[in-house]
Amino acid sequence: MTETAEREKLIEVKNLKKYFKVGKKAILKAVDDVSFHIYRGETFGLVGESGCGKSTTGRTIIRLYEATDGEVLFEGKNVHAKMSRKELKEFNKKMQMIFQDPYASLNPRMTVKDIIAEGIDIHGLAKSKKERDEKVYELLETVGLNKEHANRFPHEFSGGQRQRIGIARALAVDPDFIIADEPISALDVSIQAQVVNLLQKLQKERGLTYLFIAHDLSMVKHISDRVGVMYLGNMVEVAESDELYDNPLHPYTEALLSAIPVPDPNYERSRERIILKGDVPSPVNPPSGCRFRTRCPLATDICAQVAPKLREAREGHWVACHLYDDEYKHAFNK
Ligand code: SF4
Repeated sequence: MTETAEREKLIEVKNLKKYFKVGKKAILKAVDDVSFHIYRGETFGLVGESGCGKSTTGRTIIRLYEATDGEVLFEGKNVHAKMSRKELKEFNKKMQMIFQDPYASLNPRMTVKDIIAEGIDIHGLAKSKKERDEKVYELLETVGLNKEHANRFPHEFSGGQRQRIGIARALAVDPDFIIADEPISALDVSIQAQVVNLLQKLQKERGLTYLFIAHDLSMVKHISDRVGVMYLGNMVEVAESDELYDNPLHPYTEALLSAIPVPDPNYERSRERIILKGDVPSPVNPPSGCRFRTRCPLATDICAQVAPKLREAREGHWVACHLYDDEYKHAFNK
């Protein structure tokens, strides 16, 4: 048995679909048959361009959206199944979310103390006002703020500090799993590393599992154990982080990686950039067959006819592309 085969799957996403009605007849297929899993204690990075379905996937996992079809299992239980109030409360305590915009996600009329203590109050985690206050002060210290910040309002803080408040709010109920939806994209580059370091420190100390959503592969590189790449509602590649960066298999992942600047100027000048043609097509009317085919430099006729399935091309490395499918790879001169 391999090392990964022994690890416990905390989250299992199976053939998940999330469609939205747009206008009278059109259907936007934001997430279309996506499957992956997240091991307990790991960080799974989910990347792709804006509109690829990564945030919708995160929001459907945490039940902010109902699934159109498919399943999300948390500790083996379907999160979209009917739950009693008690089960739902327990579930809400185990999964928390950190949002992209630390300006919009904190109530401007509430003090930091009340924002952080909301979950403590809902779940009855403090027996007295004193215990509630102490928990809040401890959480503020945990995220690099202090007691004096407790009675202030969100507008008195910088973007990085507000994101720390958002993290403290998520931690207040002692969750197992946190979805971080582009948590550093709105922050200055100088602050981004601090927030990433904080998240990594908390993961070590508390054994947290993260789904870290980002639009760019360079952002998830250092924090993720494994990475999934989405394109137009589909998962196109999943692999261990180093494997994905060193040996990308999907033409889309190759293009995304080629766009990341490297610090060595000589190498930077000599390396080949893959410029993708065209824009991402609309998820309301996606291309037939492989959804990436309208921008793929390697597309052949078969790509327009048959949608590639996600298959394990190497151990632990999954890709959805006919280039790696025994049945169709003869169609490519490779
Ligand atoms: Fe490109 Fe075809 Fe592979 Fe899709 S299936 S990524 S179009 S080569």
